Amino acid sequence: MKTSARILICFSLLFSAVPAADSPALQGFSPDSTTSERAWETKFKAIPSADRLREYMQRLSARPHHVGSPYDKDNAEWILAKFKEWGLNAQIESFDVLFPTPRERAVELIEPARFTAKLEEPAVSVDPTSDQQKEQLPIYNAYSVDGDVTAPLIYVNYGNREDYEKLDRLGISVKGAIVIARYGQGWRGIKPKVAAEHGAIGCIIYSDPKGDGYFQGDDFPAGGWRPRYGVQRGSVMDTDYPGDPLTPGVGATADAKPLSLKEAKTITTIPVLPISYGDALPLLSALKGPIAPEDWRGALAITYHVGPGPARVHLKVSSNWDIKPIYDVIATLHGSTDEGQWVIRGNHHDAWVNGADDPISGQAAMLEEARVMGELHAHGWTPLRTVIYCAWDGEEPGLLGSVEWVETHVDELQKHAVVYINSDSNQRGYLLPGGTQDLQNFVSGVARDVEDPETHMSAYQRSHLFAISEAKNAEERSDLRKRNDLLVRALGDGSDYTAFQDFAGISSLNLRFGDEDDGSQYHSIYDDFYWYTTFADKDFSYGRALSQTAGTAIMRAADADFIPVDYTPQSQAIEKYTSDLEKLVKDKQDEFTERNLELKEGVYKATEDPRNLLLPPPAEVVPPYVNLAPLKNALVVLKKSAERYSAALAAYQTQGSPALPPQALESINADLLRVSRLFLNQKGLPERPWFKNQIYAPGAYTGYGAKPIAAVREYMDEKKWAEAEGQVPQVSQVIETVAAGINRAAEDFENALARGAQ
Ligand SMILES: [Zn+2]
Repeated sequence: MKTSARILICFSLLFSAVPAADSPALQGFSPDSTTSERAWETKFKAIPSADRLREYMQRLSARPHHVGSPYDKDNAEWILAKFKEWGLNAQIESFDVLFPTPRERAVELIEPARFTAKLEEPAVSVDPTSDQQKEQLPIYNAYSVDGDVTAPLIYVNYGNREDYEKLDRLGISVKGAIVIARYGQGWRGIKPKVAAEHGAIGCIIYSDPKGDGYFQGDDFPAGGWRPRYGVQRGSVMDTDYPGDPLTPGVGATADAKPLSLKEAKTITTIPVLPISYGDALPLLSALKGPIAPEDWRGALAITYHVGPGPARVHLKVSSNWDIKPIYDVIATLHGSTDEGQWVIRGNHHDAWVNGADDPISGQAAMLEEARVMGELHAHGWTPLRTVIYCAWDGEEPGLLGSVEWVETHVDELQKHAVVYINSDSNQRGYLLPGGTQDLQNFVSGVARDVEDPETHMSAYQRSHLFAISEAKNAEERSDLRKRNDLLVRALGDGSDYTAFQDFAGISSLNLRFGDEDDGSQYHSIYDDFYWYTTFADKDFSYGRALSQTAGTAIMRAADADFIPVDYTPQSQAIEKYTSDLEKLVKDKQDEFTERNLELKEGVYKATEDPRNLLLPPPAEVVPPYVNLAPLKNALVVLKKSAERYSAALAAYQTQGSPALPPQALESINADLLRVSRLFLNQKGLPERPWFKNQIYAPGAYTGYGAKPIAAVREYMDEKKWAEAEGQVPQVSQVIETVAAGINRAAEDFENALARGAQ
């Protein structure tokens, strides 16, 4: 009762808020539909309530809610009930997936002294949910293979490929050793992968205080940063494909024929365990051997040595390899047309432990959007397109909920999905959009209409000015100043957009506010309600801003007469990715030519310090010129088609954005819907066939990080120049197909305009 009374007051106040009559038509809207859209959006933005966000977070993060836990299911049912209460048509879709949980864990220093790692995060008295030990998932890395190994220890910095090149120069091999790597610089799953490729038999990952502990600020509970015994849990699944390891490419439903555990390709080949710096300190202190290179040193009060030994370590990990149910909550608000186009919004609900920041800060914002949509619907608003809200389960272990859902529904999704908008953790700071750049103008327009809570400038303006402050050089700054939009960064595979973008070819956005961090308890028991409301977005003003931003985006994408994409920013981005490939070849040519010359001149020999061994790097074959001409020719075609479509859009606006006849709209929308599918090649990437998108993909050795044009780029990273060149024709073909799709849309648009003018 109290609630509806409050909302009625809101509405009566809001009906008087009429947008300026002379504001230009929104992209994809006629002047009439713009007026109505702006009125509904204004109503929408006024309603999200910080108090409600706080209530949702308190409820959803009250107990540990990882996959397979009682509270995970409880939360899914609670979310389902809320969606229904708010007037959405909701149901739970369940999948059965492989989810290992720890059975045995040990890290012991055997020599030169004995020490047994605690492998536990202690409760903190001021933090009321930190003592729920019975329900907490112990610290571990999910999908580590079982193993029991004892070996000398070697420190490998972040444990990425360049770090092993440095180790080679130090004359150190990790063959038969256990490596210890610090968290940071790329996805954690890369660390055991690269360690195993170099012959290591075990991998320990620890959180150095330089990355997210006392070096950054006061640690918990005095401040927000990771304390001495705080640990980052997380998945170490290999990068071949995300989702259930036993059902690649198909939904983990009763119809699927799962692989056996042995056949699953994404489980690590060596055992891995994460530890705190409190547990790492005795291990690192016991290392001798060369002193770690300067940029390898963390913030512990020790001299960092690389080893090997004299430290010898015993590492033991085994898991219960169980099949567990996951619960996706899917809620629908049906559109008013029967065109069958879907606008999809998602955020995961599962966490490693209580997960207030990750993922409930984003989940709470999304729920509040759904509630407000329900209220608007009750007051007369119905979206043109169907809106689908998805609360995903199983994101943390490997994007399980979203991947299995997309794999199950891929045919329907490819027929109907217009856009997928994701969020995950949310904090204070700047709007940081990622995604496919056909939505760059669109999301920039949305950001112009959202107020930043701290500065009261628009989220657009603040994000734009932040980008200038972060630019690397004068050229970048000058380029940003000329722009009329926010640059949308390409997405890797850090969250639930992956299957939409990379597998199904659906235009995607990831939205979050952040970068004004007061701390991080990422994947620890301390990422909870107490911590979030003491150190993060404690008044939920940025949670509210996320609701406003993502909600406005959903409404606008759902209501637009024609799908509000524009391809010029996308063709510019792909042009940039191509020139990056060219630059990479040139840089490697220069680097290796110089190196080979210095080897010949004896530069390394002359500068070698006999007391501090640093071997010269190996001579390298200087890369040949790689023929990117087919790609560049395809880009000319893409650019022309993108400009043609942008010109049609501009002409439409010059004509006063007249309402187009339904048949014309239908064919333009059908054209536009298809374009993002054309980025796919059903064979997929050469070594990762699950990833179908030929432009947008995560790196096999970066994970979170995007590697645009991965088919070419990844061979270049491996110095396989001929193979890289071999991929150019088919990527070029994909780009030409995309251009043809855009041309079709432009032509239909031009024809509709010509007919309209007659
Ligand atoms: Zn998350």
